Amino acid sequence: MAAESNSPWEAALEYFDEAAVLMGLDPGIHEVLRNPKRSLTVSVPVRLDNDEVRVFTGYRVQHDVTRGPAKGGIRYHPGVSLDDVKALAMAMTWKCAVVNLPYGGAKGGISVDTSLMSPGEVERMTRRFASEILPFIGPTRDIPAPDLNTDERIMAWIMDTYSMNVGYSVPEVVTGKPVAIGGSEGRTDATGRGVMYHVLNALQTLWQAPEDTTVAVQGFGKVGYSVARLLAEQGCKVVAISDVSGGLLNRGGLDPRSIERHRIEAGSVTGYAAAEAVSNAELLALDVDVLIPAALEGVITEANVEAVRARVIVEAANGPTTPAADRALNERGVLVVPDVLANAGGVVVSYFEWVQDLQAFFWSEEQVNDRLRQIMDRSFYDVFAMAATKGYTARQAALILAVSRVAEAWHMRGLFP
Ligand code: NAD
Repeated sequence: MAAESNSPWEAALEYFDEAAVLMGLDPGIHEVLRNPKRSLTVSVPVRLDNDEVRVFTGYRVQHDVTRGPAKGGIRYHPGVSLDDVKALAMAMTWKCAVVNLPYGGAKGGISVDTSLMSPGEVERMTRRFASEILPFIGPTRDIPAPDLNTDERIMAWIMDTYSMNVGYSVPEVVTGKPVAIGGSEGRTDATGRGVMYHVLNALQTLWQAPEDTTVAVQGFGKVGYSVARLLAEQGCKVVAISDVSGGLLNRGGLDPRSIERHRIEAGSVTGYAAAEAVSNAELLALDVDVLIPAALEGVITEANVEAVRARVIVEAANGPTTPAADRALNERGVLVVPDVLANAGGVVVSYFEWVQDLQAFFWSEEQVNDRLRQIMDRSFYDVFAMAATKGYTARQAALILAVSRVAEAWHMRGLFP
């Protein structure tokens, strides 16, 4: 057997090609959508606190904008590459389409380890990056949002840099901003809340009560912490969590709020008293009902998939399962809620934030959560009904649903010129 590739872009193409064949996609549209519409690579020079100048490499990729402006997060991580960003941008096109938002897909990032930088250095890097991609972005062109290692503070700097350049305030140029400058109620928890709705929906299809359900969550950041906390509030027993430094296990159930307080003080979840230590590899192999990867891509692979024992996997992270591992999980009958569906709650509430900014008319948290639940439930049933009637996996059904919406828009608009 050939060695498994761990290129996220190759994995994204493999999933897309498979969906295209299954649905009989028009070959012209297939070829167009195999290529991102625009890819920008920029140099980001930053003066460090010690007066040295360092140059980082940043990217912004717009995969497709047929259904509306491009939408997607910005990540800061040493592993960010153009291929990585292309894969994530393509996933955003499908994600927006599967939940039927009027957006195309984009992604951006800088190859950098911000844990080694001061807040001032991160701010200068963010503002310079924002100004380098400025001609590319805008409320009707491309609207960034947070992702790995970026947060509402960073979105505020991007919004301010853009606004200073055009000469007036443009809150709708980014989402995931602080509420004080046009952010939406409910945005912080939106991705985790959407994942929680999908866990509950998946459990319902298995006739399993949340109270009888054990959960392991890999990653305890914006998404991982939210989903762990919200599932514990729903009665699930969250028995294991982890971050980049390692994991925690308590078969009696963990208290995510208390671990978050520990993490804020200690800088990591490790060392928390009321749990035993587990490695990230051990966490993935725990005997739990639901496994939620909520950190990086490519963590469930051909090499470790046999060890995975969960009955349900809800992909909070983008691209956590390689295609070979995905095939093995499907053969074993594991219910996989694919990333484009599972973690779409973030972009749904980003869309709500953009709509509120454009109208300068703001909603309550209850309105946001109610509308989010409607969209997530409807999308879950759209995907799982198609999977059941056509004999597809949920990932195939989600992609086919998404690609057919993008293809329909392509057909309507035609090929320019
Ligand atoms: P984050 O930076 O807030 O948190 C990431 C977490 O993963 C941290 O706890 C970190 O310690 C942990 N981590 C990093 N490397 C790890 C490793 N090698 N092993 C185990 N844990 C590791 O990021 P986030 O916003 O929570 O994003 C997590 C995932 O969810 C990413 O794949 C992201 O693309 C995806 N996602 C995020 C959003 C969003 O709204 N933030 C939306 C959709 C998808």
